[in-house]
Amino acid sequence: RQEEMKLYKDKPTVTLDGKHVELVANIGNPEDALGARNNGAEGVGLFRTEFLYMGRDNFPTEEEQYQAYTTVAETLGKEKPVVIRTLDIGGDKELPYLELPHEMNPFLGYRAIRICLDQVDLFKTQLRAILRASVHGNIKMMYPMIATLAELRQANAILDETKAELDKEGIAYNKDMEVGMMVEIPAAAIIADQLAKEVDFFSIGTNDLVQYTMAADRMNEKVSHLTQPFNPAVLRLIRMVIDAAHKEGKWAGMCGEMAGNLTAIPILLGLGLDEFSMSASSVLPARVLLSRLSREDMQDIAAQALMMEHEDEIQRFVQERVEAVN
Ligand code: PEP
Ligand code: MG
Repeated sequence: RQEEMKLYKDKPTVTLDGKHVELVANIGNPEDALGARNNGAEGVGLFRTEFLYMGRDNFPTEEEQYQAYTTVAETLGKEKPVVIRTLDIGGDKELPYLELPHEMNPFLGYRAIRICLDQVDLFKTQLRAILRASVHGNIKMMYPMIATLAELRQANAILDETKAELDKEGIAYNKDMEVGMMVEIPAAAIIADQLAKEVDFFSIGTNDLVQYTMAADRMNEKVSHLTQPFNPAVLRLIRMVIDAAHKEGKWAGMCGEMAGNLTAIPILLGLGLDEFSMSASSVLPARVLLSRLSREDMQDIAAQALMMEHEDEIQRFVQERVEAVN
């Protein structure tokens, strides 16, 4: 098996019926970029930038951020995409120097894009660093935790302002850099048709999407039985998001844990997911599996799975069907 996997290492990810899907890695700091490459990832689908802000006592400068983003872009090379996510602090991740009032429900509170839209200077510093780094590789950017169209527009307006400032200063950046958003709040999934018109891509964050859809804290063991990525409610939201993206000619990826789950992959392929982003160690097993699946067969499996009533029934069904074709 190990030997077989090696054969897939530097190959693109192609399904049995010849469709290319993008298999990329999640990383949490610049050093992980090499691991992503060595594990055969075709790029980075989620670069979490919180590491830059954590474990220190002040905000990272534009220059520090620029260096980190550039390092990752250069490690991956000119072609391979790197999707940088803007700051996703709050919730369980706190910053000692960003004094936030204690909240009853931090996961429903002042976090991520909500902080960035409120503290515009903090946001702009990061946007400037990402834009400047965009000339060094195939950098894309996405916003976390968008719930409304107004938030997306506000974020894009700040991005436009930042670009205008760079233009004025004569600083180069990639004017065609793709800008997308994470879909990890049910409200966003439900209005994905409206949001899709104003982004270049979606990346579905199932860790949070499942938590918010099921109203079950992802850190609370008492309710962990409700963390159900295969719940029909979650699957239907995922389908809505992918369909909405495709209707507008945009691509849809996934960067939550579910994207690397070998039972979920057949359904996601059948639903038309274009990009799968996962921990680096999951990349090769996922590529081997995808190369044995046909999209047409998986469309049929997904359609049937989405009509089922229970998540365990869905998982069993997919596992049996996938075993039957292998
Ligand atoms: C997610 O919510 O699925 C996600 C990828 O983001 P994080 O795990 O960093 O919240
Ligand atoms: Mg998230």
